[in-house]
Amino acid sequence: MALRRHTAEDSTAQGLNRCRGVFLDRDGTIIEEKGYLNDPEAIELIPGVAQAIRLFNYLGLKVLVVSNQSGVARGYFTDATVEEVNGKLEALLAHEGARLDGIYYCPHHPADNCVCRKPEPGMLLQGADELNIDLPHSYLVGDKGADIGAAHRVGGKGILVLTGYGTEELGGCQGDPPDFVARDLLEAAYWVLIQEGAERRHEMAIKKELLEILACPKCKGDIILAKKGDGLICKTCKVIYPIKDDIPVMLIDEALPYKEKD
Ligand SMILES: [Mg+2]
Ligand SMILES: [Zn+2]
Ligand SMILES: [Zn+2]
Repeated sequence: MALRRHTAEDSTAQGLNRCRGVFLDRDGTIIEEKGYLNDPEAIELIPGVAQAIRLFNYLGLKVLVVSNQSGVARGYFTDATVEEVNGKLEALLAHEGARLDGIYYCPHHPADNCVCRKPEPGMLLQGADELNIDLPHSYLVGDKGADIGAAHRVGGKGILVLTGYGTEELGGCQGDPPDFVARDLLEAAYWVLIQEGAERRHEMAIKKELLEILACPKCKGDIILAKKGDGLICKTCKVIYPIKDDIPVMLIDEALPYKEKD
């Protein structure tokens, strides 16, 4: 078996109740793209990723990392190195209260024609099988066209982030366009929140717990609920994000200017 797996804790599947999942690319999506990263100490979280993953956790979505690591096949580093980097990543996120349900990677070379290197969906299929995930109602967030391709092969939604290689890749995925283009993982998480909110409105009311997780998608700072309850305010950016049908719309392009009245 070529796929490697590492999971946080026992994520027992709950009977027939399939859960939705968010698959996350690693390099350029969760952590800064460094080109064949082989040093756990060099990991740099992209701003806002812990808040994004905490939101996925809050929404009850399983969070699985799916990463192409051809550096193993190329002889740049070993499986042990990948496991070490992944373990460190998991610890850094856990330190910020963000939980991963599984980490998968493909160690093969593109020329190996394996079933797991994205855009092939092998890692998604394995994760879905092991964690009882409903793939057509799941999401994949990544910075490459291959990420979007993998999402679409299993009938899920693909979100391209503009971190990592995202800006360069944007033009290249015209043939198979992403369902949404987000500036980064945090904004991607807010798009997921809107999709999930549309289907599960009754669960979405702005609760205190949700307010504590939400951060401004621009500056990643704290937001406060507007007195009328119709928006979320970032005082630093001087903007208000609307709340529509009880769903916070925390997208940068939807923000309205906010003037503080004194
Ligand atoms: Mg990437
Ligand atoms: Zn593979
Ligand atoms: Zn802000």
